[in-house]
Amino acid sequence: MTGRLMIPGPVPLSESVAEAMAAPVQAHYGPAWVSIHNETLQLLQQAFVTEGDVFILVGSGSAGLDAAISSLLAPGDAALVGVNGYFGQRLAMIARAYGAHVVEVAAEWGEPLAADAFEDALQNNPSASVIVVTHIETSTGVLNPVRQIAQIANAHAVPIIVDAISSLGGVGFAMDEWGIDICVTASQKCLGGPAGLAPVAVGPQAWAAIEKRGNAGHGWYLNLQTWREFARSQKDWHPYPITMPTNAILALREGVRALLTEGIAHRIGRYKTLAGRLRSGLEYLGFRPLAADAHAAPVVTAAYSLPGVPSGRIVEFLERVHGLEIAGGGLGHLHDKIFRVGHMAPSIAERDIDDVLTALEDFKRQIGEA
Ligand SMILES: *Cc1c(COP(=O)(O)O)cnc(C)c1O
Repeated sequence: MTGRLMIPGPVPLSESVAEAMAAPVQAHYGPAWVSIHNETLQLLQQAFVTEGDVFILVGSGSAGLDAAISSLLAPGDAALVGVNGYFGQRLAMIARAYGAHVVEVAAEWGEPLAADAFEDALQNNPSASVIVVTHIETSTGVLNPVRQIAQIANAHAVPIIVDAISSLGGVGFAMDEWGIDICVTASQKCLGGPAGLAPVAVGPQAWAAIEKRGNAGHGWYLNLQTWREFARSQKDWHPYPITMPTNAILALREGVRALLTEGIAHRIGRYKTLAGRLRSGLEYLGFRPLAADAHAAPVVTAAYSLPGVPSGRIVEFLERVHGLEIAGGGLGHLHDKIFRVGHMAPSIAERDIDDVLTALEDFKRQIGEA
């Protein structure tokens, strides 16, 4: 049995998304399907706010990160990676796995990355091939200043990759205007789809950097050049290298359609209001949010447990007694100290937030703290 999902992805599926998942299976090629595929790409372009190329890689969000990072690196290249949480560490791991010399531009967990630190890192590593950062660091609920970091990257003409897996559709983002070269997201977070797809947007500067490097040693499946080649050479019939999971794509199309129909600005405003409601409720109950207001992510909130109470107990209690599935979390010094509430489902409403707060109040009563 699982409770109401309020974790930082996956999110519950809306009715129209679930219906798309259950639609009769269709072939993944031919004019009728290609037209659906292309429409989905156009909707995603609107969500990324880009005129660049969009590919729907088949794999979880990390597949998209793997493809993006490897496309801009050769063994021995320096990569500047923002690390202020678990997912920043993952970006560094991916870059290292491709033989890069990773320079971590770090901040405390719970604090945002500092744009200035990238300026310094570029002064010290003028030949860096790429900058990689998370937009929302989902492990701590911190929103990173990617727009400012991108400005610095652009000024030094170093390509920048943004992991917007938990942020696209949840917080303001404009790929082209901000000067982002590659942006990666995933189907199962703010876009409201099922897990398994990694939309990746690639801008012209990224292509220029990729072409300069050639195509040797980049593998095949998670190689952006493979995806572009098929998009061009098999444009009308089969513009991707593999069998596409057509139902998952139909479902993603529904999710992105719903976002655009509601309006990105409206959706983001709704998340923001609800995040504020959750944060003030948490503070009122004595659960201090990890991130300060100024850089709190609007779609996931991490908060400290009560002194001396392992946060795992809160997670267990909310599921067992209130049917609410939130997430634990915390590595290193945060281990079992924080819990995380995901509020990135497009369907998120006041009632969900209030139910979490009521359950937390009940938890305090049970342990005799209220
Ligand atoms: C969820 C998440 C990931 C991992 O995505 P998968 O789909 O599990 O591969 C990476 N980065 C961020 C910021 C995330 O929130």
